[in-house]
Amino acid sequence: MDSNSGGYFDLQVNGYAGIDFNQDDLTGADLHTVCERLAGDGVGGILATIVTEHLDKMTLRLRNLRTLREQDPLAQQVIAGLHIEGPFLNETPGYRGAHPLDAIRPAEVAEMDRLLDAAGGLTRLVTLAPERDAGLKVTRMLAERNIAVAAGHCDPSLDELRAAIDAGLTVFTHLGNGCPMQMHRHDNIIQRALSLHDRLWLCFIADGAHVTFPALGNYLRAGGLDRCVVVTDAIAPASLGPGRYTLGRWDLVIGPDLVARAPDGSHLIGAVVTMPQCAANLVEHVGLSREDALRLTVTNPRLAVGGRRLSPHH
Ligand SMILES: [Zn+2]
Repeated sequence: MDSNSGGYFDLQVNGYAGIDFNQDDLTGADLHTVCERLAGDGVGGILATIVTEHLDKMTLRLRNLRTLREQDPLAQQVIAGLHIEGPFLNETPGYRGAHPLDAIRPAEVAEMDRLLDAAGGLTRLVTLAPERDAGLKVTRMLAERNIAVAAGHCDPSLDELRAAIDAGLTVFTHLGNGCPMQMHRHDNIIQRALSLHDRLWLCFIADGAHVTFPALGNYLRAGGLDRCVVVTDAIAPASLGPGRYTLGRWDLVIGPDLVARAPDGSHLIGAVVTMPQCAANLVEHVGLSREDALRLTVTNPRLAVGGRRLSPHH
């Protein structure tokens, strides 16, 4: 690929090539396989993503992932860091998405500290619900440690979102997802986040299912290409094709459209798209130039977790 310098950089990867990062018994061989497959797909770096579970399980998985990475030079190269998505999310159905209700909790500094400690300094991004972070204490703590803070699976008011940004929040995780199918037509979290685009990195899943391509085109124009990032949110079956899979506590089905859903079809679970496919989608279905597609998949994701505060354009 032409100017794909350093390769794609994916801020949200839950698993790949049949292997789930969110399992208790991940092995070094598993991790190596994932990294080989990602590198083979032109992915230069990812944030391996650990999602909501009971804290004991999350800390175990973070610690295991960190330890295995330390033993494998390829994993050190491909896994640039960790993304902790949850458990401090909005528990309301629709906002919660597939995150288990019994493990979602209000943000607590001591608990965040436990998770960061387990990750051993590898945490680069944390997704939380600002309206569940009382006093924005966890947001501030993360920003002070130069860990990027993202809003996601959340429904803050505009004032709450603005206050979180003032406290150091700089990213919005998979905008257009982690919210209900039906919302107020104007006063909703998508519009609020877009309205603050000059202070946020806006992340989108560019598989055409999590956000339809016409909507994605609109969001990219509203957010501005210098503020937008594409992620896969890939789950273990990414690159395996259609079938029925069990992932942690969830059963899911991947249809012929290569979209992962709950078995009853009620909601999407993660995604099975790859970064090269996302980049191709941006060109073929959204009408971006190749260069702009690479900005969203190669350049901007690295900037978004570079620890740099955004300032308004003017
Ligand atoms: Zn999510």
